[in-house]
Amino acid sequence: MKTVFFDVDTQMDFLFPAGALYVPGAENLLPSLKKLRDYAAAHGILIISSTDAHEEDDPEFAQWPPHCVRGAMGQQKPPETLLEPRLVVPLAPGDYSVDEARQIIIEKRALDVFTNPNLSVLLERVGAARYVVYGVVTEYCVRYAALGLLKSGRQVELVTDAVCSLDPEAGRRTFEEIVEAGGRLTTVSEICSTP
Ligand SMILES: [Zn+2]
Repeated sequence: MKTVFFDVDTQMDFLFPAGALYVPGAENLLPSLKKLRDYAAAHGILIISSTDAHEEDDPEFAQWPPHCVRGAMGQQKPPETLLEPRLVVPLAPGDYSVDEARQIIIEKRALDVFTNPNLSVLLERVGAARYVVYGVVTEYCVRYAALGLLKSGRQVELVTDAVCSLDPEAGRRTFEEIVEAGGRLTTVSEICSTP
């Protein structure tokens, strides 16, 4: 079964203590993120990565401190999460070929990655049934990505030791919600133990 890794918002502003919207403990995910990236690279698995790419006056900043503004250092992804060649897909509707890319970066300006109008078409083109989902923040953007993929009829496995929450209780509820919606919980070592 064709598998895609779905890497949610692993950007400097969320991962590191100096970041604009630091998720406490998220820097500890880096070894796991690297392990998943290396496994994908070694096994020819495509990585789809959602990224916040905000404008300075985005509505989201009424609720959250400004973060991941396009072009700022904090908007970048650490090298441990990157693969070449990469295709960057902005919000502007377009016709994108997925043939060459080993990583597809889906930009967004809201919590839900499905607000990028190109995503659904790209998922059809990629043609995978199984999605391994991880990243930050569990109860916000990871939740939207996992539930959106499940709603579109795809299988979702959530990597519980490669996600991080702002509120641990909300994080646990999100695990339950994803299972209730038909998803499965897994771990980095389980995912990476298949040769
Ligand atoms: Zn944001």
